[in-house]
Amino acid sequence: MALPPLVEPAAELSIDEIRRYSRHLIIPDVGMDGQKRLKNAKVLAVGAGGLGSPTLLYLAAAGVGTLGIIDFDTVDESNLQRQIIHGVSDIGTPKAESAARSIAEVNPLVNVVIHNTALDRDNVKEIFSQYDLIVDGTDNFATRYMVNDAAVLLGKPYVWGSIYRFDGQASVFWEEHGPCYRCLYPEPPPPGMVPSCAEGGVLGVLCASIGSIQVNEAIKLITGIGEPLVGRLMVYDALEMEYRKIKVRKDPNCALCGENPTVTDLLEDYEDFCGAVSEEAQEAVTGSTITARELKEWQDSGKDLFLVDVREPAEWEINRIPGAVLIPKGEILSGEALAKFPQDRQIVLHCKSGVRSAEALAAIKVAGFKDAVHVQGGIVSWVNTVDPSLPSY
Ligand SMILES: [Zn+2]
Repeated sequence: MALPPLVEPAAELSIDEIRRYSRHLIIPDVGMDGQKRLKNAKVLAVGAGGLGSPTLLYLAAAGVGTLGIIDFDTVDESNLQRQIIHGVSDIGTPKAESAARSIAEVNPLVNVVIHNTALDRDNVKEIFSQYDLIVDGTDNFATRYMVNDAAVLLGKPYVWGSIYRFDGQASVFWEEHGPCYRCLYPEPPPPGMVPSCAEGGVLGVLCASIGSIQVNEAIKLITGIGEPLVGRLMVYDALEMEYRKIKVRKDPNCALCGENPTVTDLLEDYEDFCGAVSEEAQEAVTGSTITARELKEWQDSGKDLFLVDVREPAEWEINRIPGAVLIPKGEILSGEALAKFPQDRQIVLHCKSGVRSAEALAAIKVAGFKDAVHVQGGIVSWVNTVDPSLPSY
């Protein structure tokens, strides 16, 4: 399915630009018109890491007029194996700034916008709305779902890529013309099921293989040439040296872009949705986790418990475990609620699914409450195993 160009052409190219882009200008399908569209395009790269490195370099070289870079991380020596936009002298400096320096070296005609911050639910829509197209090179599920949701809510197309060891995937998600990421992956994988590149490794050059597909698709979308990867998933196996294309259909039951959407705005907490917990939280819950049934046994035995629900007030309104008090996670992490915790009672934390309570448990333990525990699976598990009469959500 061919699509019309995403971007209107710029008024004209300068003499410098005509010289620089001559190898594009003599391709009939690109030509002066296509190059003017690239000049007028505003593209945001989410992440200046493995995928962001080649995509930013090639988008800059291709003459994309405005390139946004969002990344909050700094360059580390272990990045250099694949993040080719950064060099030895960049170690310790912000990735967004390091990437901008490299782009200026490749093509000083590009206007680079640095967003040296973490993408979050409060800034994602405002940042995305400044661009025609998003290129997603994130390495975690929480950000991936947030990028998808924001893009769908704003009606923006985005080019997605992911890499792991010798395998890569890429597609174009554009709700107006095809499926979204949630149509393909309705649920995030269970926490711990899919290791990150930091845990599982990635062949450095795989970034170039998938990044080049992403840039290719970006250029096609901007200039309106060829068949974009809308509704198709590209799967790459570097060991077999095989590219396969898989059809992806729009899911009528998609929670976001389906016929009866249940997700109508950004989620409150994508980390929570994806069940991601920090290293500190993982450490804190080891040996300090009880099941919902054990909590019920403790209650029935008359144990002196201080049971704390760390969810938000709106969730507390829906259901609650008898005997619990509400202290939202944020008040615990900020320290303001620590005075409410008694020294002489057994502290038990719970949330919806056990992710937020794990984070809160880490903070409580640091504050000196070494015997505190949290409930595995949270109130969801309580409803499933102890009291099915409670409403669930
Ligand atoms: Zn969808």
